[in-house]
Amino acid sequence: AKRSGGSAYAFFEPHMNAGVREQIELQRDLRLALDRGELALHYQPKINSARGVITGVEALVRWQHPVRGMLSPGLFIPVAERFGLINALGNWVIEEACRQAHAWRDQGLQIRVAINLSVHQLRQEDLVPRIQRALQQHALDPALLIFEITESVAMEDTEGTLQTCERLGSIGVKLSIDDFGTGYSSLSYLRRLQVSQLKIDQSFVQDLEHSADARAIVEAVVQLAHALGLSVVAEGVETAAQRDVLTALHCDELQGYLYARPMTAMVMGDWAANIGR
Ligand code: C2E
Ligand code: CA
Ligand code: CA
Ligand code: CA
Repeated sequence: AKRSGGSAYAFFEPHMNAGVREQIELQRDLRLALDRGELALHYQPKINSARGVITGVEALVRWQHPVRGMLSPGLFIPVAERFGLINALGNWVIEEACRQAHAWRDQGLQIRVAINLSVHQLRQEDLVPRIQRALQQHALDPALLIFEITESVAMEDTEGTLQTCERLGSIGVKLSIDDFGTGYSSLSYLRRLQVSQLKIDQSFVQDLEHSADARAIVEAVVQLAHALGLSVVAEGVETAAQRDVLTALHCDELQGYLYARPMTAMVMGDWAANIGR
């Protein structure tokens, strides 16, 4: 696609496709976005299935792009990872989530905040001291933070991941395996990772109503997790029927559009105050 005033794009080689070109534009804008305060965290609640109360929130990053509007992380996280911006972005997310957890606590709202970690962040030398500093700076109980790493990431570079997870555990923060069921992690490895939570991937939740297989898988995951002393969250819960099946299967926490879409911190605070009563 040609652009008017194309001089800014003159350095592109002709063989570059639109996808790459778009990525390069995004990475250029993303470098500025961090300084310009265009990133924001939205929060989606996790609900205790038995009691219907909020147990925590997941922080999900958003980018208010000056021209393109609100961009989803599915678009720009891969760009950040590819162009070496993910640690700067991830560090901002950690700092901002801690600041918000502190602000909520001042408003009388003590909730656990889940933060997504990319594989590059796990390899970042100063990840753990940074988290520790953010916790101290905002006077937060480390147990209020839970870090979500996807199952596929957890399976990469297993020795390095084990070491980092051990260090995370030693400062008192919790670990969750995201998108669980899509990878092939072994039970012994999960045990060694010292995770406290498994998050069942949305794809299984979507299939629950119509697929006996999906149901059997969720049932097995819950039993397995409980046998290992872990809690289970189901994400992507959209229907009451899915909620009912998951509750019957003793899934501990539920997250999805059925309860709420990700929302700004301010709206989240009001929402939590209302459901808590
Ligand atoms: P994820 O961690 O698996 O997050 C769940 C995604 O599902 C979120 O998309 C959430 O908005 C969406 N979702 C929640 N409930 C429902 C539902 O009922 N139905 C459907 N169809 N979707 C639902 P989102 O916010 O666009 O984030 C996409 C991915 O971007 C995340 O997947 C995560 O991998 C990544 N991400 C988001 N924030 C961060 C971040 O701060 N750091 C890093 N490294 N990755 C992030
Ligand atoms: Ca997640
Ligand atoms: Ca997930
Ligand atoms: Ca995912």
